[in-house]
Amino acid sequence: MSRIVRVETCIVDLPSVRPHVLSVATIRGQTVTLVEIHCDDGVFGIGEGTTIGGLAYGEESPEGIKLAIDSYFAPLLEGADADRPAEIMARISKTIVGNHFAKSAVETALLDAYGQRHGLAISELLGGRVRDRIPVLWALASGNTATDIAEAESMLDMRRHNAFKLKIGKRTIADDVAHVAAIKRALGDRASIRVDVNMAWDEASARRAIPMLADVGCDLVEQPIARTNRAGMARLTAGASIPIMADEALHGPEDAFDLATGRCADVFAVKIEQSGGLFAAKRVEAIARAAGVGVYGGTMLEAGVSTAASAHVFSTFPDLPFGTELFGPLLLTEEILQAPLQYEEFSLAVPSAPGLGVRLDRKKVDFFRRGGPTRASVTIGTAKEA
Ligand SMILES: [Mg+2]
Repeated sequence: MSRIVRVETCIVDLPSVRPHVLSVATIRGQTVTLVEIHCDDGVFGIGEGTTIGGLAYGEESPEGIKLAIDSYFAPLLEGADADRPAEIMARISKTIVGNHFAKSAVETALLDAYGQRHGLAISELLGGRVRDRIPVLWALASGNTATDIAEAESMLDMRRHNAFKLKIGKRTIADDVAHVAAIKRALGDRASIRVDVNMAWDEASARRAIPMLADVGCDLVEQPIARTNRAGMARLTAGASIPIMADEALHGPEDAFDLATGRCADVFAVKIEQSGGLFAAKRVEAIARAAGVGVYGGTMLEAGVSTAASAHVFSTFPDLPFGTELFGPLLLTEEILQAPLQYEEFSLAVPSAPGLGVRLDRKKVDFFRRGGPTRASVTIGTAKEA
């Protein structure tokens, strides 16, 4: 038996390679909450809680995730048997409502430590992987059509991505459709083009826009309307000739069950953090499979820790028909892992070392740590909060 002796958290502000324009926020950097769970045998696991645009995307902020872990999760973790992660998470779920991002960060760290101690990768702890590489698309979200086409061409040349997600919903429908059409025309059959509206439309706008997007060669529409309008999602799904995907509407297995029952989407964007953890994401996928709903591996624009955790989970899905968007680390100028995740041939290699299979670069984390000793005495021109 190994006891948990200490839980540490910190917030890290990392610059992004370019502004990332969504209907809800423009990202100029990413803020990552890291958690470390230390055990009395010297093993420690790492986890990550990351959202988009502070409180612009969801109810949990980076600062809130840290506060929740420090104040409410840590007392439940300290002294617990680190070899019983499922029991610990069950106890946490009985005591702490919601806080899915914090739960995912803590569960990731527990499984990382557990896997390291027993010499098994997290994908093996979850039942074993079906694939060693997972397809990864790229989001074209510079806000400019010509820039997006040039970016897509360079990704195709590098053989890094051949599927692209366009962030739309900020401009008029006519402008958005013209933007999608121009990119699809430029790339043709070399790439799949999907769109994410991030809930920007009302149902009537979506009803008008979706056939226009289908006509210009768009392959999928993600969360066109408010996450709460499930009846509207069902009507759009029934009427659309291209798949409709639920993202913001999907906060774990209970939502998945409800959305599947109501036929509110053709595809689920499975996210470990939004689902409430790795096991919860597995349950979302199981519900989708039982209901005949497709799955897609989603991201919160996470850094390497949660991206690796997500890759382990998605590697265990029997089918992954719509691929994944695990490109978060590629959007950042700084790598916080000792060895970066490997992207090539339009896919990401799932790490295979025990636990997460990735370790933090201490110096990098310390340099970018908010309020850290290094940061306080160094001015970083490009590092800003989103
Ligand atoms: Mg989305």
